[in-house]
Amino acid sequence: MTKHPALSIQSILDTLPPSDNNSDGRQLVQRAFALADQAHQGQKRASGEPYIQHCLAVAKILADLGLDSPTIAAGLLHDVVEDTTITVPQLRTEFGDEIARLVDGVTKLGQFDEMEGRDTRTYDDRELESLRKMFLAMVDDPRVVMIKLTDRVHNLRTLGSLSEERRRRIARETLDIFAPLANRLGIWQIKWELEDLGFRHVNPDKYKEIARLIDERRADRETSINKIIERLLERCRAEGIDADISGRPKHIYSIWRKMERKSVSFDQVYDVRAVRVIVDTLAQCYQTLGIVHALWKPIPGEFDDYIATPKDNLYQSLHTAVVSDDGRPLEVQIRTRQMHEMAELGIAAHWRYKEGVKRDPLYEQKIAWFRSLMDWRQDVVDAHEFMDSMRTDVFQDRVYAFTPKGKLIDLPAGSTPIDFAYHVHTDVGDRCRGARVNGKLVALDFQLQTGDQVEILTAKRGGPSRDWLNPHLGYVKSQRARNKIKHWFKKQDRQANIAQGREILERELRRLSLEDMPLDDVALLFEHDELDDFLAAIGGGDITSQQIATKVIEAEQKREAARQTDVSPDEVVGVRKPQGPAALSVRGTGGLLTTLAQCCHPVPGDAIVGYITRGRGVSIHRRDCANILRSDEEERFIEVSWGTGQATYPVVIKIGAYDRGGLLRDIAAVVAGEGINMSAVNVSTSKNLATFVATLDIYDVAQLSRVLDKIERLPNVIEVRRQTG
Ligand code: MN
Repeated sequence: MTKHPALSIQSILDTLPPSDNNSDGRQLVQRAFALADQAHQGQKRASGEPYIQHCLAVAKILADLGLDSPTIAAGLLHDVVEDTTITVPQLRTEFGDEIARLVDGVTKLGQFDEMEGRDTRTYDDRELESLRKMFLAMVDDPRVVMIKLTDRVHNLRTLGSLSEERRRRIARETLDIFAPLANRLGIWQIKWELEDLGFRHVNPDKYKEIARLIDERRADRETSINKIIERLLERCRAEGIDADISGRPKHIYSIWRKMERKSVSFDQVYDVRAVRVIVDTLAQCYQTLGIVHALWKPIPGEFDDYIATPKDNLYQSLHTAVVSDDGRPLEVQIRTRQMHEMAELGIAAHWRYKEGVKRDPLYEQKIAWFRSLMDWRQDVVDAHEFMDSMRTDVFQDRVYAFTPKGKLIDLPAGSTPIDFAYHVHTDVGDRCRGARVNGKLVALDFQLQTGDQVEILTAKRGGPSRDWLNPHLGYVKSQRARNKIKHWFKKQDRQANIAQGREILERELRRLSLEDMPLDDVALLFEHDELDDFLAAIGGGDITSQQIATKVIEAEQKREAARQTDVSPDEVVGVRKPQGPAALSVRGTGGLLTTLAQCCHPVPGDAIVGYITRGRGVSIHRRDCANILRSDEEERFIEVSWGTGQATYPVVIKIGAYDRGGLLRDIAAVVAGEGINMSAVNVSTSKNLATFVATLDIYDVAQLSRVLDKIERLPNVIEVRRQTG
């Protein structure tokens, strides 16, 4: 009645790693099984199998990975809290804290697969939430994530009985979240299985096609690979190297990805032969490399030494490619047995060993990295900010730079000397005034590259510059450094923050020519009743000048709109009646007739509808806005759509500066660098003062604020502001 042969607890006991194959280890696993078996009694999987088979399967994968008995026991128990009446405290009493924590961790990761129906968030939000949970769990104990990954492997193996839509969704999520995570943790065995199983459900046709092609070519490929192996093995033996050489299996998803990425055919990918050589010692790795390069001609640019420079998931190996005897490319990977274990099992390899085995310093560094994630998590309240930083700090490529003493500092790509300084020590960051990279002085917004040696020049005292928090200026990339800078400002005397905040606010209003707007009113826009609290928040770095610019301009537009009287739809600029698509342009100056609704904040790309208000022109709402859905005044709606190009509007800015040669050219360069068209410019000089009046075609307020910032930073510029009237 079941498709898969039933597993028994005996098969797991037989797979226990030697270190755990003693009476304690065996008893623990048996007790866990007994409880799980009883708790899941009568429950069935969608396939009709008894539920306990799923628990056994998860435990078996964990045992095959060589994980320790507590992890295997927790694997057997991983669903009891979620799906039965057993509680975490009960587990703690019966099995102790370690296992209770592991099961609790897996339970808290939640049932990603079960969200359908009772979850209205978008896929993207759920994905982010899943990631967040995964990373937090991983920091506490990576074994929790390993149990979750093996749970996912087995769920995917048995997806068959679910509806097509659910299968696809689970498979998609696997490719987006779980497989990259397994990769990040270096658990190759799990990674490829998740990828292939996921791909099979996401793109069944392609999967079958590639599987069929592999099958057809198998015999031919095996013959040619066997010849290569024989030749290489013979030479290794002659040099006294005891090598294991095997053909490297190609996985379906990775073949497909290569076909897509390089736009090549199946044959072009599959033609590449690949073998892996496993030897005893590090010296033999390089010796074997010499043999390979003597036997066949190396392909230039295809050699990578991941032994000297391991990948960031700790992977170590030598990679080379040569032209084999039949003229086809041959890829060769060479590594020691220990490196191989790391490559297959990644972080999981660590739990294969008990005390007494020396720890890998790289592994220790990785753990330190997890801990540092934990460290700044405390400072971050906003979930979105947290996810942004996860994306920047965890998922994009990273940069590894060195201190003068050779300590490796692991940073997100695009990091600057300031990020580096804060990662070395908060105090070094706060006092950072300059930096030398590879011996040369660089600007503080210099982007570090992997391998750079960075020396931070510090002042004796003093703190960070507020400019560092300005996202336009690119001084800081990592969320961790940003938080530490904010923290410094928060610690400052409140009065100093208020004074600073007032200065920033007044400057921003002056630049936007909105000096007449009372500061209290601006505070109210940010829901601050007390002006001083608001100023302190600005001074403390929680509210940026860009946020101020956006809000006050919005408020100004609303005020202007309120002055408009009733309009008939035909008079509305850029908006037409339903007969066809229309361009919508919202003008920031002059006669403004349309406003973006405050209830739903539509942005270009949203499906929108116009609503003719009484006396405030047309307000633009998202089509799914609750206010629109609720309204029954059909006659007040008009069709609108976003224009195809980005609508720009002219803004006149005035720049005051001490005159110098090349200043106009520099201003023009900054403007052009922002992709802004400068439609007019007028210069007048008096004594050594120059005044430029320029008309810029601006797309939005953020862009205006950014370009004003950049112009203001040019040498000799005294003031930049927007001109009205
Ligand atoms: Mn499960």
